[in-house]
Amino acid sequence: MVELLLIGLCGACVGSFSSMLLYRLPEMRDDDSLTLYGPRSHCTQCKSPLAMRMLVPVLSFIFLRGKCSFCNKKIGSSYLINELIHIFIIILIAVNIGVSFSGFIYYLIFSIFYILFILDLKHLYLPIYLNISLILIGLTTNIFFNLFTSQQEALLGALAGFLSLWIINVVFKFFRSKDGIGGGDFILLGGLGSIFGVVSLGPIVLLGSSCSILIYTLSDKSKREEIPLGSGLILGASLFYLIKTLFI
Ligand SMILES: [Zn+2]
Repeated sequence: MVELLLIGLCGACVGSFSSMLLYRLPEMRDDDSLTLYGPRSHCTQCKSPLAMRMLVPVLSFIFLRGKCSFCNKKIGSSYLINELIHIFIIILIAVNIGVSFSGFIYYLIFSIFYILFILDLKHLYLPIYLNISLILIGLTTNIFFNLFTSQQEALLGALAGFLSLWIINVVFKFFRSKDGIGGGDFILLGGLGSIFGVVSLGPIVLLGSSCSILIYTLSDKSKREEIPLGSGLILGASLFYLIKTLFI
């Protein structure tokens, strides 16, 4: 029980860190003065720097009743939701996969998936270093530990994942003189192929594009002009893994 509490606490901290990344990464594209380290965490509305007691995951939100103690404006519930989802998933992984190297890798992949999913959904932004991290994690864990698939499957998956969308885009660009697929999507599919293997690419693209179209259909069309393929691919890969693990 104490172990699960400590694990949950780690999950809450990662969730809190991911909230910071989800807020700062898109802003950093336009604002050179903003980095991951500074300025200090602040209220997004009145910009007052937050004291340590306001940075405790989950508890701060509850004690402050979801309001900034400086300007009294509402703090978005997404902070609390991010932390709760990270706590839930880390406990799920600890119970089902174990507190182990494999468990750590699963959680790392989940955390990167989570950030990429939300960033693409909200900003159509897939940071290249997160995509490249997925390729590196997929290749190293499969080449050295066969964690998800074999070495050959992982290498071919990375290559075929990247090239397939890249070629589709080249053909699209030839006929329409503009990009049809974002560059981040090629690298992301390369990353997913390197983790789950070349055989997984077909089902992931099929499930992923269906999820993307569903997201687009359910979205407010006045705010959304493009289909978030990256978010769909991440949902597709997660669904593929769940179906394979639970039913096959
Ligand atoms: Zn404030």
